[in-house]
Amino acid sequence: MAENDNKNDNNNFFNKNPLITFAVFSIVIIGVFKMLVGDGASANGALGNTSKRVQQVSYSKMKSLVDSKSVSKVEIGQSYIKATSSTGSTIYTTRIVKGDTKLVEALDKNGIEYEGFSETNWFTEMFGWLFPFLLIIGIWMFFAGRMQKSMGGGLLGMGNSKKMVNSEKPDTKFDDVAGVEEAKEEVQEIVDFLKYPARYVEIGAKIPKGVLLVGSPGTGKTLLAKAVAGEAEVPFFSVTGSSFIEMFVGVGAARVRDLFEQAKKDAPSIIFIDEIDAIGKSRASGANMGGNDEREQTLNQLLAEMDGFGTDTPVIILAATNRPEILDQALLRPGRFDRQVLVDKPDFEGRVKILHVHMKNVKMDKDVDVEEVARLTAGLAGADLANIINEGALLAGRKSQKTVKQKDLFESVERALAGLAKKSRRINPKEKKIVAYHESGHALLAETTVGAKKVSKVSIVPRGLAALGYTLNKPEENRFMMQKHELWAEVDVLLGGRAAEQVFIGEISTGAGNDLERATDIIKSMVQTYGMSDIAGLMVLEKSRQSFLGGPQQAMREYSEKMAEDMDEFIKTSLQERYEVVVARLEEYKDAIEDMVALLYKKENITGDEVRDILISFEKKNNMESKVDSEFDEITEELKIDASMIDKSQAKSNED
Ligand code: ADP
Ligand code: ZN
Repeated sequence: MAENDNKNDNNNFFNKNPLITFAVFSIVIIGVFKMLVGDGASANGALGNTSKRVQQVSYSKMKSLVDSKSVSKVEIGQSYIKATSSTGSTIYTTRIVKGDTKLVEALDKNGIEYEGFSETNWFTEMFGWLFPFLLIIGIWMFFAGRMQKSMGGGLLGMGNSKKMVNSEKPDTKFDDVAGVEEAKEEVQEIVDFLKYPARYVEIGAKIPKGVLLVGSPGTGKTLLAKAVAGEAEVPFFSVTGSSFIEMFVGVGAARVRDLFEQAKKDAPSIIFIDEIDAIGKSRASGANMGGNDEREQTLNQLLAEMDGFGTDTPVIILAATNRPEILDQALLRPGRFDRQVLVDKPDFEGRVKILHVHMKNVKMDKDVDVEEVARLTAGLAGADLANIINEGALLAGRKSQKTVKQKDLFESVERALAGLAKKSRRINPKEKKIVAYHESGHALLAETTVGAKKVSKVSIVPRGLAALGYTLNKPEENRFMMQKHELWAEVDVLLGGRAAEQVFIGEISTGAGNDLERATDIIKSMVQTYGMSDIAGLMVLEKSRQSFLGGPQQAMREYSEKMAEDMDEFIKTSLQERYEVVVARLEEYKDAIEDMVALLYKKENITGDEVRDILISFEKKNNMESKVDSEFDEITEELKIDASMIDKSQAKSNED
């Protein structure tokens, strides 16, 4: 009975699930086969001979067969009788006539062997036979269903995946996203395009298809994406990268297809892919060298879909990651995620704004000092701040207060910090001081050295991309060639950080380790590769090698021991010489550095212009000839996420 119910209830289900349909069909067919052949087989079975003829006879005929001793063995069941002819060649069967006992008497009289047998009816037999199968299918369906739920998609078939892509029309607005003004400005254009696609299409403007939102967790990437949809009033399709990765190869790709199909149908619309690194991981990176077919197929499908529609289809794909450096380069190519928007951890002012956003719907006491809370929460992301307000409200509620007091917020801040102390590197006052001087040192040298890249931003906000702050040099142009004096300038800038620690703090920290490594590398390659020293003259000591599989190359020495010693000596003395120059510069500009540090303490982020203002006014005050290079090109305020521009030593220290 059970299987009948199943079939009726799940007609749809079977249509969508060829595998199950197949299983059920084969069972039914085998069952029917068994039923047809089975009767004969069971009739013969007892006698162990299948070559016999089966003949249906009347009850009276059966009786006369017995009387004439034409049968040698008789089996009596509940509803029929089987008798084997004495020759053994035929089996006679007949239905029992109820209430007749004469047959048995006749059998006894004629001395014919007889016995009873249990007739199994075909239905119970088949059920018994089917039962284990049904059980297995049932168990399978149960687990599959659970997996389906937990993974948010269909395991049993692709038909189900369509349901998984839900769109919403968020009412989030830009006002809900605070402290990330630069990022908001950058996505403003997308809102405009989604609102008035015709304007752009008519002109023939190329609108970005994909925008990568880069930033630490909780900085508001999802929120910003939603706000874009909310401002433009378009549907928002949201998926997580990891949800594409399924057990079965091909499912993820099918989902990507469905996702795009639906988004295009509902265009203008936004697709948001959170944690895109889950599918977009570079093939060369990580322990995935063996290859992950499913991930790769999904990625390829995503790339194909992105290439598949023109810039006149108003579908914008926003993706979020906190690890842009591990993404497959194919994702970042033009026409794909060719635009990156940094969604930074907020600075002081940003935190004040974010706190205000989240305080809007909470009753705050008059004694609450938002700036004080912002001051205490350097290095925290928007999500942490939202949490702090909520925790404070919960605390106040527990104490049956009518409003949230400053005390509650403090308590909640303390909790948040204690919880985060281990996880993210919240900056402590000692570190803050070191970082402020270190970064100011880099900035001073960058601005006062001819040939150095100029500063676009100095920061002491600890962030995911570079834990302890960074000096972002302005990418003046794409440089393929550097002159000798520019290389030396870069060495000076790199040494500026460590020198500042020595001059202003009197002690050196580990924060400069990578700076020194890079400075050393630069000088080394000037000697070895570029023929820029007297040591080797024009002789190239190290051939440029194509690195195989991106791995580190074993350097092969092709020069004398003496040359090696000379080179070591040259590197060491040059570093020392440059270091002295750098220290002298820092001492010369001591007060300017102090001003920069003070401003950094106050604002956490300072712009290149602010750095230059401080330096120029310092030079004026002291009647110095200006070293600040005011001739460089207009600043293109395009923040590129380029690991080489971010202080790598500090990015590294974030990883532990
Ligand atoms: P991400 O996607 O970067 O990990 P979310 O956008 O999911 O971060 O942020 C989680 C929550 O934290 C948001 O829903 C919001 O309440 C709060 N939040 C994060 N950043 C901001 C911000 N810049 N302004 C206001 N609220 C924020
Ligand atoms: Zn540094």
